Amino acid sequence: MPVSGGDNGPVTSLAALHPRLPSPAQEIEDDRFTRHGIRLLLKRDDLIHPELIGNKWRKLAPNLTAAAGRTVVTFGGAYSNHLRATAAAGRLLGLPTVGAVRGQELADRPLNPSLARCAADGMRLHFVDRSTYRRKTEPETLAALVRAADAEGAYVVPEGGSNALAVRGCHALGEELRGHADVVALACGTGGTLAGLAAGLAPDQRALGIPVLRGGFLTADIQTLQDRAFGGRRGSWRLDERFHFGGYARTTPVLDAFAEDFEDRHGLPVERLYVAKLLYGLVALAEEGAFARGTTVAAVITGRPFP
Ligand SMILES: *Cc1c(COP(=O)(O)O)cnc(C)c1O
Repeated sequence: MPVSGGDNGPVTSLAALHPRLPSPAQEIEDDRFTRHGIRLLLKRDDLIHPELIGNKWRKLAPNLTAAAGRTVVTFGGAYSNHLRATAAAGRLLGLPTVGAVRGQELADRPLNPSLARCAADGMRLHFVDRSTYRRKTEPETLAALVRAADAEGAYVVPEGGSNALAVRGCHALGEELRGHADVVALACGTGGTLAGLAAGLAPDQRALGIPVLRGGFLTADIQTLQDRAFGGRRGSWRLDERFHFGGYARTTPVLDAFAEDFEDRHGLPVERLYVAKLLYGLVALAEEGAFARGTTVAAVITGRPFP
């Protein structure tokens, strides 16, 4: 149901959607941590809003305000959590949205469930060939793409939603965790959430990112995101690049079994693209002795499984 602004058109204040902020933090008992003297907290960003889930809320909220009622154009792959969140926000706030989807060939196929949800939420889908998609941050390519999507004058949010506004939006996630954990860990795609979160933590806290893509480019990307959002490096953060399981949306039987077992043990629905890799990485790190006894680790639950 769109939030109506009466005669003034759509309301772009996300407060009208009643986000659950700060998100709850829950301590869980898991012998794979307790036997090493580690406390594990789950920072439940997945509970912020039923449709604008997790870090997508934190990153989109300031952008939707900045869009001020204009059409929002953004980018993503065929299973993008970011596209679904943007489409849902469009429906809830009465904003037109356009999704530029990687893969021209998808135009000729039935929509997968993720894209079908985007379309049902009113997002207009525009399929883009892979080579153009790769160059979408070049100004001329972007301008041509927006024109081709019939969306000139629209507010453009980059792939994954990680611009400076989004990074600053994630600062609050760090602030909410001050005084609650020694190490804050999360899975990274673009790294925008980590860039903001690390800046919001207290000086004695550390952020640990688990990239779900392979490639080793993320440290530089996060540095750039912090430079743009804050004018320089902020907070104490590092990445552990060992837990991508082959790359984005790749999995293995071991990871699947791990995620199912975690769900059974703790009743937490484990999102598979990101959260499963984070939790697996933390169990492995605890086993390696990476955290001193007495350490409190907060794992940010950035999302929920789809559908
Ligand atoms: C989008 C997403 C991420 C990645 O966030 P970045 O800011 O791009 O690093 C992590 N977890 C979940 C569940 C997501 O949907």
